[in-house]
Amino acid sequence: MYLPASIQVHAADAFEERYGERPFLIIRAPGRVNLIGEHTDYNDGFVLPMAIDRAVYMAIRPRTDGCVELYSLDYQELGRFELANIKHHDSGWLEYIKGTVWAMQTAGMRVCGLEGVLVGDVPLGAGLSSSAALEMATARAFTAVSNQPWNPAEMAKIGQKAENKWVGVNTGIMDQMISAAGKVDHALLIDCRSLETEAVPLPPGTTVVIMDTSTRRGLVDSAYNERREQCEAAAAFFNVSALRDLDEATFNAHAQELDDLTRRRAKHVVTENARVLKACAAMRAGDAVAFGQLMNASHASMQNDFEISNAALNTMAALARQQPGCYGARMTGGGFGGCAVALVDTDSVDDFVTAVTSAYTAATQLTPQIYVSPAQDGAAIVAE
Ligand code: ADP
Ligand code: MG
Repeated sequence: MYLPASIQVHAADAFEERYGERPFLIIRAPGRVNLIGEHTDYNDGFVLPMAIDRAVYMAIRPRTDGCVELYSLDYQELGRFELANIKHHDSGWLEYIKGTVWAMQTAGMRVCGLEGVLVGDVPLGAGLSSSAALEMATARAFTAVSNQPWNPAEMAKIGQKAENKWVGVNTGIMDQMISAAGKVDHALLIDCRSLETEAVPLPPGTTVVIMDTSTRRGLVDSAYNERREQCEAAAAFFNVSALRDLDEATFNAHAQELDDLTRRRAKHVVTENARVLKACAAMRAGDAVAFGQLMNASHASMQNDFEISNAALNTMAALARQQPGCYGARMTGGGFGGCAVALVDTDSVDDFVTAVTSAYTAATQLTPQIYVSPAQDGAAIVAE
């Protein structure tokens, strides 16, 4: 069984070894999986992620000399900088921390120095958003030592700014928002326009299973930018500020006036937004069957209309659906590789994992990674 608590102990022990005392604070910020609502965030729409049991941990104590010193246990590397003089360096883990601090300072927040160790168990680059976990752990740590209030939505925007403007990766707000504001046993409906959130309970007796295909996105930036442009073109055609403002009836009434590609891109976003809201209604009613059907429909929409799936993701989702106790499955994340996600009857999870692993390997000659995760809380101080 997977024991997330042990990594927290590891962080505390590593801190003590380095600094000769117990840490002043331990911070935890989770990775995430999106249950439904893909490529809707930059269309001002709805997403429904949950925070997972894998996270980035920081064991820290304050510093009064305006310096920051963090030792990465995963990279076995010390990073340091001065708060008054934050400069871009090469790429690397420290840039996420510098960028988050820079974004906090730019927003006018008072930020004090700190030192400590960081360690994580969110797999890197697998689509579970280890980068947002690192940004939100950073934001939580610095607000704590600086005696600043923790406002999840505000801090999510800070993390997004760090990722977009400092690290240079063009992403929406979802990853930081769920890492900042996740709630145990719940998924989080996020309105990506207002940043309002609502915690929605997972259907009783079900478990979320994440299935990493072991395929990775290639030239994803150009495909991502192309999708964004196509969505903007469709919004302009309908004279709305974002596709969020387009309901299915209005879309259907004029869809045939669009060229085929733009029509299919817009169709995905319009129907996906509707599916997120229907999925929330299904969850509130405890209706795992309806939720699973919406996951399946979401996958078909991404495969056929938005065209962001790949063969491995299609195979994984199809194999998952064939298993007893599986309510539904879909690719999750940006696309072109990474993970699929399934909703599975809790009593069937062990058999599900065994069967999907061997069936996927037989079909693709690839070894998948499977993560069974409860929904967890967002960024928090877990020990002081
Ligand atoms: P992901 O899909 O996991 O978010 P990214 O490429 O966006 O993938 O972010 C991964 C990067 O985040 C890593 O290369 C590293 O720089 C940083 N990172 C994530 N987790 C850790 C960690 N535990 N320790 C140090 N850096 C981390
Ligand atoms: Mg990332």
